[in-house]
Amino acid sequence: MAVTYVDHMGSDLSVVNAARVSFARESRDLGPNDIGLINFLMRERHASPFEHATLTVLVDTPIGVQREWMRHRTQSFNEFSTRYAKIGEPEFYIPPEDALRTQVGKPGAYHFEALEAEKAPAAREKFESAYQAALDAYHELLDMGVARELARNVLPLGMHTRFYATANLRNWLNFLSLRTDSNALREIRDEAARVEALIEDLFPHTYSAWLQHERHAI
Ligand SMILES: Cc1cc2nc3c(=O)[nH]c(=O)nc-3n(C[C@H](O)[C@H](O)[C@H](O)COP(=O)(O)OP(=O)(O)OC[C@H]3O[C@@H](n4cnc5c(N)ncnc54)[C@H](O)[C@@H]3O)c2cc1C
Repeated sequence: MAVTYVDHMGSDLSVVNAARVSFARESRDLGPNDIGLINFLMRERHASPFEHATLTVLVDTPIGVQREWMRHRTQSFNEFSTRYAKIGEPEFYIPPEDALRTQVGKPGAYHFEALEAEKAPAAREKFESAYQAALDAYHELLDMGVARELARNVLPLGMHTRFYATANLRNWLNFLSLRTDSNALREIRDEAARVEALIEDLFPHTYSAWLQHERHAI
């Protein structure tokens, strides 16, 4: 699983100047007043100035994780096509031992606990054999002449896919609020943490203001 930086537009200064245009003013360099303004905007939920900076990432993740990710309608996506391209040597998600978990409790009031250690090797083996069987079926269907767009139906949620995701800073913060929360799927939390590191690096003052305001969506 990976989240790789592709491109970005703007900086903390873009946020500041999007706000300052209201008063026909502009900052050339980010100064203490500008950092104060970012905090003010975050605190007062004046969100639109945060829409003038963007980040694009390349995500490599299982389809099951991607399905949750793509619920974020304010992002723009482009994905590897299993309709146009034959799948070469796909990667499949076999949870590492520390991610193997069991659900305890009822829907709405449950938590996860580690799967008993002695069950872990058999569980991981089951993932692996099921993936292999699905991949074999895919290749057999292609060999029979079945179209790629049909043969792909036998492939599982654990198969990795790759996609570009672009969003503005405001919507990345919304994504991070939701997907780094302890209630979110562990695997998407891992990916969101990688996005968070990029946001911190590229937009440090916006990131710091967001942390001060308890990681709320704006
Ligand atoms: C822990 C967790 C569990 C979840 N469980 C489920 C589940 O069981 N079933 C399920 O279907 N989904 C589930 N979701 C998905 C969730 O309901 C959201 O669809 C997803 O998190 C995207 O959030 P968002 O709408 O804020 O993001 P975006 O789609 O990026 O939207 C950002 C913001 O834009 C605004 N917006 C966007 N579109 C609209 C619109 N059409 N109308 C009004 N405002 C809009 C909203 O303010 C929104 O917060 C879950 C999410 C999480 C984090």
